[in-house]
Amino acid sequence: MTVDSASERRFERALASLRGLSVGDALGSQFFVPVNYPLLKQRVLPPGPWQWTDDTEMASSVLAVLADHGRIDQDALAHSFAENHDFDRGYGPAVNRLLRLVREGGDWRELASALFNGQGSWGNGSAMRIAPLGAWYADDPEQATHQAEISSYTTHQHREAVVGAMAVAAAASLAAAPGGPPKPEELLDGVIALVPRSAVGAGLRRARDMLDYKDAGTVAAVLGNGRRTSAHDTVPFALWSAARSLGDFEEAFWVTAQAGGDVDTTCAIVGGVVAAGAAGAPPAAWLAQTEEPPGWLVPAHH
Ligand SMILES: [Mg+2]
Repeated sequence: MTVDSASERRFERALASLRGLSVGDALGSQFFVPVNYPLLKQRVLPPGPWQWTDDTEMASSVLAVLADHGRIDQDALAHSFAENHDFDRGYGPAVNRLLRLVREGGDWRELASALFNGQGSWGNGSAMRIAPLGAWYADDPEQATHQAEISSYTTHQHREAVVGAMAVAAAASLAAAPGGPPKPEELLDGVIALVPRSAVGAGLRRARDMLDYKDAGTVAAVLGNGRRTSAHDTVPFALWSAARSLGDFEEAFWVTAQAGGDVDTTCAIVGGVVAAGAAGAPPAAWLAQTEEPPGWLVPAHH
């Protein structure tokens, strides 16, 4: 494929975010193994290599579609999710079934809207994959929010899931701003201004009011830590943590992981948002232990 220099820069920025997302996902998922819990407290890395999960697989589809179409094409995105779906990457049961049916020729519009008795999924799956899209639109947080909204409908149609994806994309876009990372309160104020009224939005306002709290466990006890795997139980805490540690990937990771819950997903969101900024890249030694993004993404587009 041929790209002009502007879209080349978008791709590089989004790939940097994807790499941060994959480190958060792969390293975070190590802490589902009880033998590794003591390491978490002492901030000691478990032995590698670390394999990424559904968060990175779906984020790679988001980036592939942006590279091919220059925006979110819903049909292309739904089909990329379905074609690249690896059952062993830790997807939830509803998404496993949805992607299998799309692969077999089903219509994603009907299938996604029928989930959970016609309410659509409010899971955190459309938020966990979207930070690289925010990095792609570093110059335009409103467009990031809009494209994230469109992307969510391919799998997650409940308002809370849609707003969760919008919030994470807005955060990554603002974190990637050319002038350097914003202050914590600027980041959350910026995100809050871009998302509609919702439980996720209410959670973000509580997160904004808790930026001076030191203990992430206390904050997660109020905001949620993804244990329920819903968008509103996941996104406010993840963006609280990302906002406080823009420019410091290691600190962001440990604080997020120590709060427990859906650790691969909270750390994927935080890693993708923090690494969207030039100063927030993961340590080289951590990247070296993390499985490379999928082969179908990188050779085709890089
Ligand atoms: Mg996962």
